[in-house]
Amino acid sequence: MPKFTVAIIGAGLGGLLFALTLQKFAPDVEFHIYESAAQLSEIGAGVNFQPRTWFIIRELGLDQELLQIAGNGERPNMAMVYRKADQKEGYTFHITRDDEAENWTFHRAELQKVFLNNLHAPERIHLGKRFVSYTQPDASTGQIEVQFQDGSTAVCDLLVGADGIKSGVRGAMYTHLEEQARNRGEEDKALLLKSCIPASFSGVVVYRALVKLDRTNGALHGSNLLMYCGKDKHVVAFPIAQGRLLNIASVVTNPALSGTIHEGPWRSRVSREELIEMHKGWEPAVEGILKVCVPVRLAMTTVAYVPTQDVDESGWSKWAIHAVNQLPTFVDGRVALLGDAAHAMTPHQGVGAGQGFEDAYVLGRLLGQPGVALGNIPVPLKMYDEIRRPVAQNVAARSLKSGQLHSFIAPELDAISPNLSASGNGPTKEQLGLVAEMIERVKDWRKGTTVEKDCQAAIQRLHEELGQTSLALDTETAVSSHV
Ligand SMILES: Cc1cc2nc3c(=O)[nH]c(=O)nc-3n(C[C@H](O)[C@H](O)[C@H](O)COP(=O)(O)OP(=O)(O)OC[C@H]3O[C@@H](n4cnc5c(N)ncnc54)[C@H](O)[C@@H]3O)c2cc1C
Repeated sequence: MPKFTVAIIGAGLGGLLFALTLQKFAPDVEFHIYESAAQLSEIGAGVNFQPRTWFIIRELGLDQELLQIAGNGERPNMAMVYRKADQKEGYTFHITRDDEAENWTFHRAELQKVFLNNLHAPERIHLGKRFVSYTQPDASTGQIEVQFQDGSTAVCDLLVGADGIKSGVRGAMYTHLEEQARNRGEEDKALLLKSCIPASFSGVVVYRALVKLDRTNGALHGSNLLMYCGKDKHVVAFPIAQGRLLNIASVVTNPALSGTIHEGPWRSRVSREELIEMHKGWEPAVEGILKVCVPVRLAMTTVAYVPTQDVDESGWSKWAIHAVNQLPTFVDGRVALLGDAAHAMTPHQGVGAGQGFEDAYVLGRLLGQPGVALGNIPVPLKMYDEIRRPVAQNVAARSLKSGQLHSFIAPELDAISPNLSASGNGPTKEQLGLVAEMIERVKDWRKGTTVEKDCQAAIQRLHEELGQTSLALDTETAVSSHV
């Protein structure tokens, strides 16, 4: 008999990792995953994990399997090489220190396949179920009813929205919170809560492709994580799929468009010629990669995603990057948000999925604690919100800053030289040393921190709170029995 049931909306990387955490650390909690897609397939290309994320992978016992499909094989150390590249003769201005360069890179689809294969009860994944809304009773134990687009419903004791950046669960939760504020006569608060529903355009556009690594003809600067920096844009490249493929992205930022409504689709296609034109005058490595590399079309085999032909006629994919506004809460009663639904961020630190995994891991561990039961679900959710929200939102702000630094448009650059962030050429060779220091400082939240520490802090607070709650209940009972 399960202690309670969880409905997870969304079978993306975050939702699946949450299910895997419950499976291992909260076996007495029954979960079901509801996914809108009729079949599961990850879109996008490469994804990069850093040590905080890898810790979770290890805890879930997935590390050995994932090392088989990592871009860098069993060699976790991939230095990040930063080059000033928007000129004919580029040069390296910074390389991350070896002991800070642990990275594991993957093809998303391969990753998703490993996650799915490790779920013991695949029948708990319900495909073709598009979440529309939910009804949460006021009482702390009545079941939550979830409504789907096809007219069907499901019930659960805890609802977790892992349904990505356009999250319907976030929409339903914040509509409810907005209504409550309005009913209390708090119009300003109601407007603020309403503004949390849509994601905002970040002013960043990312052009992505996967190319066969052997097509690069050694044009790259080693098999590292490469960051070719230039004014207003930068190009990131790293190997995935055991070095068979190169994940490449050109990131273009227009800060004036940040927070505006993006006209047009969030994802579209552009030709290779457009990419080449955009990087005219860049160092030969960048121009060279764009010229010789053509996006490959991929197909799933039983073992892995492999290129099926050289040319993907549809060209490069263009992503208008949106981000979720800083939410005042990730939870409401027995409903919680996780992953991109809670904090979709710009991709400049390569940790968006990792932050979703941290949500999933901390929440799953909390729910598995002794003392957590149907009657007190809001208590672990409160701890989850208190521990995870500040971390994820801090990382999101820092990620945005990293992108501005990589594209030499961060206002902080003006401290090096007045109006440097707005000037046409970007920093000089002498100034780039200071830029490198800023780049490292923005990433230093990772130093000396671990997910386990955060998790233990959340668990300790949970037990304190549960102790206090039971004490309060005991006192209440004692008082009422005296009356
Ligand atoms: C260009 C780019 C590069 C990135 N690089 C990295 C990186 O290197 N490292 C890293 O850690 N992160 C990276 N990220 C971030 C990462 O991709 C996301 O944070 C991560 O994929 C989010 O996972 P998720 O499961 O929360 O959401 P999603 O992957 O969006 O999954 C949501 C799931 O919910 C389903 N769904 C949606 N709506 C409904 C509904 N109404 N009902 C039911 N199901 C629904 C969707 O079909 C989907 O399966 C990058 C992002 C971008 C854009």
